[in-house]
Amino acid sequence: MDLNPATTADSVSKLIQELSRLPGIGPKSAQRLTYYLLRTPDEQAKTLAEAILSLRQKTRLCSRCFNITDSELCPICHSDERDKGKICIVEQPQDILALEHIGAYKGLYHVLHGAISPTEGIGADDIRIKEIPGRLKVSPVEEVIIATNPTLEGETTAMYLNKLISPLGIKVTRLAMGLPFGTELEYADDVTLTRALEGRQEF
Ligand SMILES: [Zn+2]
Repeated sequence: MDLNPATTADSVSKLIQELSRLPGIGPKSAQRLTYYLLRTPDEQAKTLAEAILSLRQKTRLCSRCFNITDSELCPICHSDERDKGKICIVEQPQDILALEHIGAYKGLYHVLHGAISPTEGIGADDIRIKEIPGRLKVSPVEEVIIATNPTLEGETTAMYLNKLISPLGIKVTRLAMGLPFGTELEYADDVTLTRALEGRQEF
């Protein structure tokens, strides 16, 4: 968006430009947010700025499941209350939030950080797949639930994972297609997601 430097203060247009680069925020929303922040108390704006900074400085990937964490292991891997015999494989960290929100799953996770996409040139080695066999050898796992998105890329990834994991003698299941094809896990409503999880099927 071109903002007229003769009529808009530099700091205002800079923030509008930065905000409009965020997903789901168009130029109008970016303007509204910027002028809202101008009116908020100093403390609130400072807290927001610090939260953004610490998000980048203090977080890293869990050394076991690659979820976002503040320490070596994420809270889920660190917990004694999770069922260590189950691993649910998801594409993105925010998919864990969606599944945790329904509270029906008590196992562990594995975050791929993407999906196999031949059209975009993303292969199995470009996402966190190669770490999976080692992880399955370290501790006994009875079931791997594949919860990749019901998209072409998600399906391709699921099939690849099944071929990789099934020969290890581990039960491999896939979320049932209660989810409409083409949607992404993080946007699914709770009911749809619960049904999909309950209706997961063996490959
Ligand atoms: Zn973890």
